[in-house]
Amino acid sequence: MTVPGTRSGQLTQAGGVWADVVGQEAAVAQFRRAAAPEGSLAQAWLVTGPPGSGRSTAARAFAATLQCEQGLGCGQCRACRTTLSGTHPDVTVVATDKLSIAKEEVRALVMTAQRAPATGNRRVVIVEDADRMSAGTFNVLLKSIEEPPPSTVWMLCAPSAEDLAPTIRSRCRLVTLAVPSSAVVADLLRRRDGIDEQLAVRAARAAQGHIGLALRYATQDGALAAREESARTLLSLRGAGEAVLAAQGLVDRATAEAKEHADVVAAEEKERFLRSAGIDDGKVPPSLRSQVRQLEEDAKRRQTRLVRDVLDRYLLDAHSVLRDVLSRQLGAEAELVNIEVAREIEQTAGRGSGRITLGLLEAVQEARDRISGNVPPLLAIEALLARIAVSLR
Ligand SMILES: [Zn+2]
Repeated sequence: MTVPGTRSGQLTQAGGVWADVVGQEAAVAQFRRAAAPEGSLAQAWLVTGPPGSGRSTAARAFAATLQCEQGLGCGQCRACRTTLSGTHPDVTVVATDKLSIAKEEVRALVMTAQRAPATGNRRVVIVEDADRMSAGTFNVLLKSIEEPPPSTVWMLCAPSAEDLAPTIRSRCRLVTLAVPSSAVVADLLRRRDGIDEQLAVRAARAAQGHIGLALRYATQDGALAAREESARTLLSLRGAGEAVLAAQGLVDRATAEAKEHADVVAAEEKERFLRSAGIDDGKVPPSLRSQVRQLEEDAKRRQTRLVRDVLDRYLLDAHSVLRDVLSRQLGAEAELVNIEVAREIEQTAGRGSGRITLGLLEAVQEARDRISGNVPPLLAIEALLARIAVSLR
């Protein structure tokens, strides 16, 4: 299978530190103009784009451009390399997989932002999930963003500008990332991660523009097969009883997947904490017990969030299957996302009408909203699958 565009040099046109920022020509051009000697460098940036579009990769590339010893982000010098690998002393990256960024954490960041750069041209502070801040925490940040020291640059990343308080976003220069096409994502997996071409194309198509997810599909045993199996199940549902069982199956699978990931992170976190306290036999002394308990509670909250994230991904998958059905019903020529179940998609399309499928697409969106609005996931998914089962019969 050939992928249009992947052979030409245009995808990596910018090169250097921008090589892995794929499918974002407009945003890269905007950053490069700002970093040029005659450009105007804003001191607060807001990088928005859907999950997996490469917000933090873009922010790091821009930070490297600002630190580069050669000027424009050569990707080769020590400043570029250390910035991209996360070890540059003047570039601070805050990432969180917790529900929210703590106020104390932001206070510490603001202190860091006040300091002059130690070795580089600038001090750059990147906040990867800036949307995960409470109003009070935003206020702590606000002052520093209003009047940062002359060599400090803030880079906030969030899914959309609306996720930030208006007071913050009005002070930032906005950069909007697009959803990268499957072709550029496949090319990145092949080039950066050494994934075999056919697998890269398949994984990128399934991930629908989410770079991290595409990599997971390409590298995790059984991940693509499980996705395909879910699509098949969705299209074969025939009644409320099956829907209830399938919903329970999805929630169980999401819980297991989230728990596996959360357990690994929690164990690492605890080990790191104990090591920093000078304990290497794993025995927690009474004086540290409350802190360890706090860590464990954080981990539990994180797992709850993760289950919802995983379920949301399953629902996006279901959405893509129904969209494929709709595209066949409308006679569109577009390539299916779920080629592996093309036969089932054709059959389902032949049985129903576009109007019914459109209604189901809306129902998927509704279920996503309900789950993010804290409706118990099992309830929302049962209701959705029951409706699909009855409509596609
Ligand atoms: Zn450089």
